[in-house]
Amino acid sequence: MLPAPGTPLRVVDLDLDPPGPGEVQVRLYASGVCSDDLNVIDGTVEVPCPVVPGHEGAGVVEAVGEGVDGLGEGDHVALSWAPYCGTCEQCLRDLPHLCGTAWPLMLTGGLLDGTTRLQFGGAQVHHYCFISSWAECAVVPARSCVRIPRDVPFEVAALLGCAITSGVCAVWRTAEVRPGERVAVFGLGGTGLSAVLGAIAAGAGEVVAVDARPMRLERARELGASHVVRAEGSPEQIAEAVRAAAGGGVDYAFETSARPANVRAAFLSTRDRGATVMLGIPRADAEVVLPALSIPRMERRILGSIYGSARPDRDFPLILDAYRRGRLPLDRLISHRLPLEMAGDAMDAVRSGEAARVVLELG
Ligand SMILES: [Zn+2]
Ligand SMILES: [Zn+2]
Repeated sequence: MLPAPGTPLRVVDLDLDPPGPGEVQVRLYASGVCSDDLNVIDGTVEVPCPVVPGHEGAGVVEAVGEGVDGLGEGDHVALSWAPYCGTCEQCLRDLPHLCGTAWPLMLTGGLLDGTTRLQFGGAQVHHYCFISSWAECAVVPARSCVRIPRDVPFEVAALLGCAITSGVCAVWRTAEVRPGERVAVFGLGGTGLSAVLGAIAAGAGEVVAVDARPMRLERARELGASHVVRAEGSPEQIAEAVRAAAGGGVDYAFETSARPANVRAAFLSTRDRGATVMLGIPRADAEVVLPALSIPRMERRILGSIYGSARPDRDFPLILDAYRRGRLPLDRLISHRLPLEMAGDAMDAVRSGEAARVVLELG
């Protein structure tokens, strides 16, 4: 539990109410640690405190609330921070990842009805992104649960709920990369590495991995990137190096760092009809400067991608199927495994930028 932004995390026993209508209680076995959690802990992103962080996890269903269909006690599930209502304008447009009911509630500290199931010493404790997975047990919306095969390790399933899906599905769903197309990935944290793996699995041609840190480039190379480019110098110089490595401009440049200079480098590395796919979440006041003429002249495009434009109930099973067939070696993304008591060390590992994916082993 995080008592307040900027204070140390505490491992405490909380009271957990049983699941309400449309909710599920899950015994958690693994949870990912993401840079978004750091933003909460540091206070960069404002959420009501005290709060239990963590927004990606996997475990076993212990109890289901009223009106929950298709999930039962003993089911193995991966959690998704993007539940959906099924009835709003975006859901009816088949864009549940943009659900107009869930998004406004995302950082308000409750579940979908706005209330919390967590207490400490009689005082209410808030949820984070409906999940709060840095815990042994959680009550979450049923639509945050996706049933998974029993032979998938929890530590792999736990990562589906954020970085892996954001990266893999940005390639598969937002961009719909086709075999032979040239891809560059800017920023090689968990999301970027997942985009590299997704591009390889989709049959992309050249896959150029770009980052400022040699260690991250090495990891991308080990995972199968065909070329690596050290991000040094101006956006123009970086784009030139990417174009040289790829044998010309790329069809898709995936940008995960959200820094405007990197977005510009990504844009400049695309070829005619190429698209820059922005996955990273920029600061609220960030603006990007691009050579406008090339947008009509070269038909260059900019695509936004949140959560990889994924539908978790459709895409989690597809990603896991590719993992089980050896086409998406997701377990190789895990660089650190730590117990819940060491969440502070886990955060330091993420903060250092050297970690790929960090997993908390629970229960
Ligand atoms: Zn995340
Ligand atoms: Zn909706």
